Amino acid sequence: MRRLLLPVLFFVISGCGTSEGVSPESSSQEASPQQAPWILPPDLAAVPEKLDGMTIEEYEPVSTLRVPGFGVPTARYPFVDVHGHWFQAPGFSAGQVDTLVAQFDSLNLAVSVNLSGGSGNRLSQAIANTEGRHPSRFVTFANVPFDSVGAPGWTERAVAQLAADFDAGARGLKIYKNLGMDVVDVNGVRVPVDDPRLDPIWALCGERGMPVLIHTADPAMFWQPRNKHNERWLELKLRPRRYRPADQFPSFDEIIGEQHALFARHPETTFIAAHLGWLGSDLDQLGQLLDANPNVYTEIGAVVQELGRQPRFAADWLTDYKDRVLFGKDFYNPVEFHTYFRVLETDHEYFPYYRKYHAFWRLYGLALPEDVIRAIYYENAVRIIPGLDSALFPGA
Ligand SMILES: [Zn+2]
Repeated sequence: MRRLLLPVLFFVISGCGTSEGVSPESSSQEASPQQAPWILPPDLAAVPEKLDGMTIEEYEPVSTLRVPGFGVPTARYPFVDVHGHWFQAPGFSAGQVDTLVAQFDSLNLAVSVNLSGGSGNRLSQAIANTEGRHPSRFVTFANVPFDSVGAPGWTERAVAQLAADFDAGARGLKIYKNLGMDVVDVNGVRVPVDDPRLDPIWALCGERGMPVLIHTADPAMFWQPRNKHNERWLELKLRPRRYRPADQFPSFDEIIGEQHALFARHPETTFIAAHLGWLGSDLDQLGQLLDANPNVYTEIGAVVQELGRQPRFAADWLTDYKDRVLFGKDFYNPVEFHTYFRVLETDHEYFPYYRKYHAFWRLYGLALPEDVIRAIYYENAVRIIPGLDSALFPGA
């Protein structure tokens, strides 16, 4: 009965096209084994016919493909999610944190890195509520408020606050994408990612051995014309504020170039370029960046659909760069992790992604070798994030 219902859920839920948090992970490969896959289940067959005027948001074809492979609800090894956002952590109750950790256990999520710790009292409260209750299961990164760059003494104050935040238990720094796109200084001038006034911040992180996870820019197609050839057209239609018109934003290349210049200027600081550095569709270029900058790592949050559409090339690439890639998820929804496990661990074919406006295509498993999976799941994180409990990980 459950299997019959799943395709129905997929249709209904993703039909609205805007469900950020809903994940019909299963569907095509989980049709009833009794029923021929090319016969629509009764609920779907009852949907009125429509030939003219169908929109791409409405169109939800049910795959007729029947191949082996089901969802993967638990990771093969304990893993560190280096890209989590627990904005609500300062207000978490003990019960809420216990519930989360129980979910983590079901996923085999050993450590969740909260990139949204903030600073000062907010940071301390977030750490107390999460790490204070489950010390080995959470890590908290600080954030620097770029509120008045260029004001007299701003850099010194920002560095002193960040040092205090590290003393209070922060184990890294997260930089949001507003740096390089929206942050302006006290004169109203855009602050580039590699602005020299920020150099002492990166230097402090290097001195203290604290990694910097940095999200810069957005998918490059957000800068391109919103025509029928734009691969992110649907996202720009559904989320129009994500468009980056040339009269309001520097180009993608300019902003990403600033990030790469920053990496080169601070070789003593460990950087994690979020979201495959937005180069997931050009892994050769990402490899060149990693080759040129031994201090740079990357993570796969919100871009697993890039890997899952190039399974052979991506598997080879990840094998070559296994020491430089970390597991990240970004938006927290337990069932969406299943798709990550499936892409990395299995050789399944043509299975659905959960957000059509990120990927209208289906995914293929990479079937990564065991040593590559372990490196991405936890070995690299244990090496670069201070104080992870190695007892959580086999052989670490
Ligand atoms: Zn994020």
